[in-house]
Amino acid sequence: MINQEAYKDLVELCGQKKVELIAVSKTQTIEAIQSLYELGQRHFGENRLEELVVKKASLPEDIIWHFIGHLQRKKARKVVALADWIHSGDSLSLLDEIEKRAMQQDKQMNVLLQFHIASESSKQGFDINSEEEVFADYQSKWPSLKICGVMGMATYTQDSEVVKSEFRRLKERFELLQKRSFSGIEDFQEISMGMSGDFEIAIDEGSTMIRVGSLIFGNR
Ligand SMILES: *Cc1c(COP(=O)(O)O)cnc(C)c1O
Repeated sequence: MINQEAYKDLVELCGQKKVELIAVSKTQTIEAIQSLYELGQRHFGENRLEELVVKKASLPEDIIWHFIGHLQRKKARKVVALADWIHSGDSLSLLDEIEKRAMQQDKQMNVLLQFHIASESSKQGFDINSEEEVFADYQSKWPSLKICGVMGMATYTQDSEVVKSEFRRLKERFELLQKRSFSGIEDFQEISMGMSGDFEIAIDEGSTMIRVGSLIFGNR
C-alpha cells in the first residue's frame, strides 16, 4: 500500500529543494510500482539484478531505473544494459568492469562514486579519506563512464548529529573532487544521500538525490 500522503509531501519538498526523488522499489510488486508511476513517479531504485530484469520488462518504458545496491562484477554486463544510473560505483575494479561492458554495448553509463561514510563496516564504498588521485585521468581510463557525482549511506542511528556529520563529509568530498579530478566537468554535480530515516538531514546537507523506499511503500 502506497502512503500517498507521505509521497505527496516528499514530491513537494523535492520540488522546493530541487532534489530528485528516487522511489526505492526493491521487493515491491509490479502493481505497487505501477500505482506510484500513475501518481507521476518516474525515477525508481532497485538493488538486485533479478528484480530489475522482471520489473523493467513489465513496466512502462519511460521509467528511469537507478541501480543502488552493491554490484558484483559478474552482473555488471546486464545491469549496464538495463539501468540508466548506477549509484554504487564502489571500487576501481568495478568501475573497470562497468567501463568494459558499457564500451561493448556502446553506452555512456551514468555512474556515481560510492563512498563509505558510515561507522558500520558492512557498508560498501571507497574510503572517504582515500587519495583522490585514483580518479585523475578518469576520462582516458573510463571513456564510457559518465561520472556524475557521489553517493553514500549514513550510519543507521537515531543520533542525528552523527548522520549530519557523515553527510557533511560526503559533501566536502564531493566539493574536493569537483575542484580537482572533475574540475570543469559539468556532469559531476550529484550527491545521492538520504533515505526514509534521514532524507531531511541529507537535504539540509546538500543532497541532490534522495533514495526513499519504506516511507512511500510501507515497511518491506
Ligand atoms: C533500501 C535502500 C534505500 C531505501 O531505504 P528506505 O529506508 O526504505 O528508504 C536507499 N538506498 C539504498 C542503497 C538501499 O539499499
